[in-house]
Amino acid sequence: MSPSRHDFNLEAQASGSKARAATFRTLHGVIQSPLFMPVGTQATVKAQLPETLHESGSQILLANTYHLLLRPGPEVFRKMGGIHRFMQWPGSVLTDSGGYQIFSLPHSRSMTEEGAVFQSYVDGQRILLSPELSIQTQMAIGSDIMMVLDQCIPSTADEKAARAALQVTQRWAVRSLAAREDSPQSMFAIIQGALFPHLRKESAAGLVELPFDGFAIGGLAVGEEKHQREDVCEFTAALLPEDRPRYLMGVGTPLDVLEAVHRGVDMFDCIIPTQVAKRGSCFTSRGIVELRRSVYKFSDEKLDPNCACPVCAKYSRAYLHHLTKTQEPLGWQLMGQHNIHFYHQLMREIRASIIEDRFLPLYHEQRQVLQVDDVDHPITNPRPQPAPVARIGDYELHLSEDEPASIRHIITGHTVATSASVEAAHLSRRLRLAEGVSPEKTAPIIIWDIGLGAGAAALAAILIYEEEAGQGPVRPMHIVSFTDDLSPLRLALSQKRHFEYLRHGAADTLVHRGAWKSRYRTGLSWTLFQGPVNEMLKQAPGPPEITLAESDTQITASL
Ligand SMILES: [Zn+2]
Repeated sequence: MSPSRHDFNLEAQASGSKARAATFRTLHGVIQSPLFMPVGTQATVKAQLPETLHESGSQILLANTYHLLLRPGPEVFRKMGGIHRFMQWPGSVLTDSGGYQIFSLPHSRSMTEEGAVFQSYVDGQRILLSPELSIQTQMAIGSDIMMVLDQCIPSTADEKAARAALQVTQRWAVRSLAAREDSPQSMFAIIQGALFPHLRKESAAGLVELPFDGFAIGGLAVGEEKHQREDVCEFTAALLPEDRPRYLMGVGTPLDVLEAVHRGVDMFDCIIPTQVAKRGSCFTSRGIVELRRSVYKFSDEKLDPNCACPVCAKYSRAYLHHLTKTQEPLGWQLMGQHNIHFYHQLMREIRASIIEDRFLPLYHEQRQVLQVDDVDHPITNPRPQPAPVARIGDYELHLSEDEPASIRHIITGHTVATSASVEAAHLSRRLRLAEGVSPEKTAPIIIWDIGLGAGAAALAAILIYEEEAGQGPVRPMHIVSFTDDLSPLRLALSQKRHFEYLRHGAADTLVHRGAWKSRYRTGLSWTLFQGPVNEMLKQAPGPPEITLAESDTQITASL
């Protein structure tokens, strides 16, 4: 192998297990593995200070190239001297490549050999995310470890799609290495191949030939069963060189992490510790404690009697219960702090056990411990879950006391729809649709709705039209909506009490029949073009007089 930028030192290998302990160097210090990386998507780990992360033992944080490329943008990182100085984080940073987010994008994304073209959710700009742009952005961010741009597909993809994706990933890996030039930042490749062992083998064989500083196992934790993930993880880890770090992307619960260490993985990242903290769930040595439960209302106990974190040293379960019931940000912060500490403490115990060659007994013991529920207050009644989250495809319903209901993309957090009234107001103000439909011209007004979302913009146009038509003669209007994913609209249609604009029957008909014509306003119709947006645009009637772009702030009008 070529020399690594990491001085990777494999310190110990457990007996009866593939678990390993190692030390390696980054531009910002020495890393001890196995390790867990808290996720700092937007150059911040949600509700956590860099100081408390550092104190709890965070060695390296994960930041998100896709989001940071869009906002604040690479020029801010260049001006501010990189992410470490920008966010005041002294430790190491790993940046993902943006591949995962791009391929999760529902609309306005098209794939070529060159890269992925998508539309920014910040300003509507079209961006070509190529391997070169991803690496240049990661160089501007100044991470210690960069990831190659890969083509992600669902782990359950068929063989043909999986092979095509891994071949593109291989070519992009070569381009990513070239784009790094002489940067001292290290770079990891990503092994793809879905659930097919022979494809994993093919992917690994191609990538380990190249001078990467580490290797990630990609394409897992995206829809497969737990046992499938564990099998593929074990099989793939065994294909990787011993003298490079191995990183399992996006995994997982403490139990998942333990299982993957046993199978030979060194590095992990996951949003779970801060995400579950927001709803008051904590990992403890006494099982998973749901602090929303009223059993804690008067509890003077520590959150976890065996935890050395500052939260457990100071605060009672009663106080944390109160903070979570009142949805105070401090509750999220404190419970996130504890959960991150819990992960790091687990990794430290695992590491010590590997070095002292007692990992296997620890593994068997922790396997039991990590899957128990609350030991001290077992849940006998049905579990007090937060209201079940409605989901379809990659979208979920978001309900909160402070904001109108919305539909969000699960992975990017991008809001697809709120309420029609908001969109309608925007439309009438910005598009002057009402003037556009007045009958000076007789040809139909064609509206392109690129990125149908949950149909709010199109419905707003319909509602405005119907209102205008009630007052006098109007031009015919034809709306053409483009999408390659109907999930957000389907989800909104299943939740009409939250999305009142969908009580208008047009969207139901559109989804079922692909088109809708008003029975009362003869000139009003709506057609759906479903498929890759760039392809569909070529087939659609046009040119449009008005284009509704996906981003609400970028609605453009040319009347
Ligand atoms: Zn604690």
